[in-house]
Amino acid sequence: MKVPLLDLKSQYKTIKDDVLKVVEEIFESQYFILGPRVEALEKEIAGYCRTRHATGVSSGTDALLISLMAADIGHNDKVITTPYTFFATAGAIARTGAIPIFVDIDQDTYNISPECIDRAMADMSEEERASVKAIMPVHLYGQCADMQNILKIARKYNLIVIEDAAQAIGAEHNGMRAGAMGDFGCFSFFPSKNLGAFGDGGIVTTNSEALHDKLRILRVHGGRPKYYHKMIGGNFRLDALQAAIVSLKLLHLDKWTKARQENAGRYRKLFADADIGDMVGLPIEKENRHIYNQFVISIKEKRDELRLFLNDAKIGTEIYYPVPLHLQECFSCLDYKKGDFPAAEYAASHTLAIPIYPELSDDQQDYVVEKIKEFVRL
Ligand SMILES: *Cc1c(COP(=O)(O)O)cnc(C)c1O
Repeated sequence: MKVPLLDLKSQYKTIKDDVLKVVEEIFESQYFILGPRVEALEKEIAGYCRTRHATGVSSGTDALLISLMAADIGHNDKVITTPYTFFATAGAIARTGAIPIFVDIDQDTYNISPECIDRAMADMSEEERASVKAIMPVHLYGQCADMQNILKIARKYNLIVIEDAAQAIGAEHNGMRAGAMGDFGCFSFFPSKNLGAFGDGGIVTTNSEALHDKLRILRVHGGRPKYYHKMIGGNFRLDALQAAIVSLKLLHLDKWTKARQENAGRYRKLFADADIGDMVGLPIEKENRHIYNQFVISIKEKRDELRLFLNDAKIGTEIYYPVPLHLQECFSCLDYKKGDFPAAEYAASHTLAIPIYPELSDDQQDYVVEKIKEFVRL
């Protein structure tokens, strides 16, 4: 049996007619960038995320970058974030000229630990503390970070909060949606995200009228009116084609999310029956709406061998993320070393994402757990 990590073709089959219809309409209109399709999507996403505004942008990475720019974060400012995330989180910070300050994660949820943020702030000199401008938590794998405590720290030190919600559209914390709690919520429509476009795309949510306005100016090189530039922005525009496809897919998102959650529940049952809990740890659900962009298990030992074994059995897996960001070569100038963030380092070397996509069948799930059991009992 073949079980890919993600099977976008089977999802496409279910929406193909609608996609082709809207693509044809856009081809006929020859209207490709921003415009009414993007505006419609912005309204829909703001509604879905329960925020006042949304601004469509060119990617999730650019959603982070434009938010940092709108927050006036730049040279020598500092931004606190997690070392256990996709590179774009810290990459965007560094590209503004600011310095990422890494703090460790909560070992249960893999999300940034509020206690570690608080401790890092308390341990700084007064001068350094004054240079910290923002916190960028990531809602990793589809589960919200502990936003209540993160927002408390942000209020205490007057910090901006930029949520990296690229993996978490529709996820909730205390009944609030990802992207609706901080000053900015950054989403990605990369095809492997729960709400993926047919190419690159992203969106930024905010409840602030002023920030919303600034995002829209920055998105078009900082020009308003056109060709008059009060600030320096970039080309952060979203395509009409991508917006139209995302709008169409949004109608199915809750159904797909429910299927992912049911698959997660089914894995829990199968793993419990397999009785390999001494070797395999399951994701811990602390928040009330985990949307399972990934189902990530932790393996006590021989994670890489398990991955090869599953690969031979035609089961797709992925390691998110093999090198925590504080140990990336490009950040060596920041002077972190191995051992600085034990929880992040442990996660990087012991976790494995297994297939969780909505169209996954019961037989496929049975097979995945059976093969993992076989490896563990070898
Ligand atoms: C996917 C992702 C991004 C970047 O999104 P792109 O659309 O690929 O630029 C940023 N942060 C996290 C946590 C992501 O998973």
